[in-house]
Amino acid sequence: MNLPKKVLVTGGAGFLGSHLCERLLDASCEVLCVDNFFTGSRQNVQHLTDNPRFELLRHDITFPLYVHVDEIYNLACPASPIHYQNDPVMTTRVNVHGAINMLGLAKRVSAKIFQASTSEVYGDPEIHPQPESYWGHVHCVGPRSCYDEGKRCAETLFFDYYREHGLKIKVARIFNTYGPHMHPHDGRVVSNFIIQALQNEPITVYGDGSQTRSFCYVDDLVEGFIRLMNSPDEVTGPMNLGNPGEFTILELAEKVISIIGSSSKISFLDLPADDPKQRKPDITQAKDVLGWEPKIRLEQGLLKTIAYFDNLLSSS
Ligand code: NAD
Ligand code: UDP
Ligand code: UDP
Repeated sequence: MNLPKKVLVTGGAGFLGSHLCERLLDASCEVLCVDNFFTGSRQNVQHLTDNPRFELLRHDITFPLYVHVDEIYNLACPASPIHYQNDPVMTTRVNVHGAINMLGLAKRVSAKIFQASTSEVYGDPEIHPQPESYWGHVHCVGPRSCYDEGKRCAETLFFDYYREHGLKIKVARIFNTYGPHMHPHDGRVVSNFIIQALQNEPITVYGDGSQTRSFCYVDDLVEGFIRLMNSPDEVTGPMNLGNPGEFTILELAEKVISIIGSSSKISFLDLPADDPKQRKPDITQAKDVLGWEPKIRLEQGLLKTIAYFDNLLSSS
């Protein structure tokens, strides 16, 4: 008899984690969702709680966790600048102590382990687009450093456990992703612009809006997670996962206003410190090794995300 795969998702009640849990349940896995609800919520996984293969555990992964699982997706970490800068020492701690605990767990139970790393490991990049071979341009004592350096150290830990203990690791470098279940008040650009435009309030563009980002719709990203996890053991990453379509922040503002038909005007505010000027993934590796590339265009993804926030605003 084939027993269902037991999968632990840390940060499973967050934006990406909740979509991943749903996707794993659809693939007949047993899912243990571990979250301390720092930025995530029960609401994000409410629709999964009736599924007998789903379990939700409130736990902070900076403390040890003793469970039996076959696979671990380590997503726990606040992801937006407002949240990760709110308690920067905690941000470093979850990235470093949290990763050590999850790696220790993976080692004890021989589980395969996936790390949600980030394009922020490239910092304010001098090479464009960014391939995995680029070592990055990261400030180590700035306001974003707790996140960037925390994630870099987590990658180091993953590769040290791989070399020292032969762990099966999968490290994904995730680029900006958006979709339903984004936290409405975490200050990320897509959620901010959509909420502002739906309420016909000024759209807050930081700087002159010429900085670029590449936005991936959440369903495409989660497909990439699953393919990376299921890839042969020698595929460890780090591997970029993101949508190479690159837009200026001003272009994004104009798209959101036009799709919603909003009367919002653009308001230019100061650019935050260390804000990267450009970001776009080179996804050659993901294409070649996983046969993966995003399918959902920005306009399509924005429509789905707008519908989510519209519903959220009208029910609150
Ligand atoms: P999110 O803030 O919605 O989710 C993070 C989850 O982790 C939340 O549910 C939070 O409560 C939980 N968490 C935080 N600290 C914890 C702890 N100590 N113990 C247990 N749970 C804890 O963010 P997200 O956008 O879903 O990001 C998920 C992961 O993907 C993060 O590691 C993030 O760094 C990474 N990532 C996200 C993006 C993106 O664009 N969304 C880009 C790059 C990397
Ligand atoms: N750990 C855990 N769950 C486990 C096994 C280990 O949370 O099932 C934690 C434990 O707290 C430890 C960390 O993972 O501090 C690293 O474990 P490892 O075995 O690599 O190192 P050691 O215990 O020798 O420090
Ligand atoms: N940004 C903006 N207005 C906002 C929120 C963000 O102009 O209301 C800009 C921000 O300065 C950055 C880009 O949008 O240049 C992406 O910001 P986000 O926080 O979403 O992601 P990150 O900076 O981590 O890529």
